[in-house]
Amino acid sequence: MTELDLKAWPYKEAEKIIEKMANTKSARKHDFVLFETGFGPSGLPHIGTFAEVARTTWVRNAYENMTGEKTKIFTFSDDMDGLRAVPDNIPNGELLIPHLGKPLCEIPDPFGEEESFSAHMNARLRGFLDQFGFDYDFKSSKDQYRGGHFNEGLIRILQKYEEVRNVVLPTLGQKRGSEADRSSWSPFMPVCSQCGKVYTTRVVDVHPETNELTYACDQGFEYKGNAVPACGNTERMLVTDGRVKVGWKVDWALRWFVFGVDYEMYGKDLIESAALSSKIVRILGGKPPAGMFYEMFLDENGEKISKSRGNGLEVDEWLKYGPLESLSWFIYQNPVKARKLFFEVIPKSVDDYLGDRERFGTEEEAERVNNPVFFLAQPDIRAGKKVEFTSGISYSMLLNLVNVLNTDDHEIIWNYVRRYAPDAEKDETIDAMIDRAITYYTDFVAPTKEYAEPTDEMLPALAQLLAFLKSYEGNSAEDIQNLRGGQRKWPETRCLVCCDVPHAAWARARPPSGDLHSALWRQGDDRADRIQSRLSPLIHF
Ligand SMILES: [Zn+2]
Repeated sequence: MTELDLKAWPYKEAEKIIEKMANTKSARKHDFVLFETGFGPSGLPHIGTFAEVARTTWVRNAYENMTGEKTKIFTFSDDMDGLRAVPDNIPNGELLIPHLGKPLCEIPDPFGEEESFSAHMNARLRGFLDQFGFDYDFKSSKDQYRGGHFNEGLIRILQKYEEVRNVVLPTLGQKRGSEADRSSWSPFMPVCSQCGKVYTTRVVDVHPETNELTYACDQGFEYKGNAVPACGNTERMLVTDGRVKVGWKVDWALRWFVFGVDYEMYGKDLIESAALSSKIVRILGGKPPAGMFYEMFLDENGEKISKSRGNGLEVDEWLKYGPLESLSWFIYQNPVKARKLFFEVIPKSVDDYLGDRERFGTEEEAERVNNPVFFLAQPDIRAGKKVEFTSGISYSMLLNLVNVLNTDDHEIIWNYVRRYAPDAEKDETIDAMIDRAITYYTDFVAPTKEYAEPTDEMLPALAQLLAFLKSYEGNSAEDIQNLRGGQRKWPETRCLVCCDVPHAAWARARPPSGDLHSALWRQGDDRADRIQSRLSPLIHF
């Protein structure tokens, strides 16, 4: 087999892993190559979660295809993290106030479904990822800390305590509070054994010789006028088995060290954190993973998407208008380029995705392996299923059809699609697109649509047409097409009305009359009254 030129970005990422593996072969912690993605369970999974797991999966596929080695993805939820503020969009938020400062896994579920706040979010995360068929191993901080899996790393941090502090302190900056706050900073966050809070404690002393530290619970804080008190407890205790967690940048390094993570990607806003975590993992005696940063999505005005402003677009919102593959296609595109994510990108993304699938069907292997579809449809390709797209149906065509037929009836659209592409029914994507095109049209196109009135010179032709339709009892496209006494067939670019109206008049009147234009020849086998009802708002006799 000739050497393939692997140009797509997931291969470039996989090459980084190959290089890393060559340098760390002797110090492997497991017999598979480990990819990691992180999740913060203080909120619900969102489009960023989807994008990160999807992109990581594509790199994983590229790596497997290049090396044939075994791989896994750990999706890690930091459910030992404390709750500092009541998140938005949570029912009964006030019930959470007495629990502020505690680890998420110790706070009751505000939805009343799971054993804790984080158990709820973790369940939502897994449900979210499972519905898209992602393959991953779920890992929770709580299980890892309390199960003792982090002990080795926690003891190592205790041994390297000052070294870790020395790389972190310069990064804290003035905004972190007073000099005294910074000098008292510790990588460890003890969970108070008395009040259960993690955000009210501080480390007073460390005792590496016995794997212990001493903490004081004396850092009460305020949340929107509510006091979050510290209980005043002071205690010397072991750092192991979940008594203590570490702050999140150190937590990242701890996971990399303990699990031997080989690859992790992260948002651009975490570049500095990743650099810091790399330093920490080296201090602990580990190697940072290979990885990349990706750009964050922007809204339609080019502004950063923020949860509180609600200017983002969520996965379920996209799925109302475009099939899942079109979202994946959008996310697949160059991850280091900032792109706008808003509703208007959906139709084009669907059609670009279909275009790539169409190309995929005719390409040689050398091109196929660089086609986005090769990654998006990897499970199907591995299962030997056909993934090419041959029907010629596009989303914009369906939008036009919805527009012309002026219907939200799925079946009516299908009737036309079937006639145009008899094989279309075999392709699940098309059925998924039809309802979505109807919804997109209803939500975004119809409300802004304006019908132009026909010009005077068009009216005689329209009157003639209407008279014919009123008197027409048949149900034949041919008859209507041959309205002009069978003199000639309609070429598709001209319509009935054009026979009497200079074509230029139609051109001037587009696009609104363009709808009518196509309606007349596409509606061939529908009843006259149907067409008439469509014409009547346009014509005033
Ligand atoms: Zn306490």
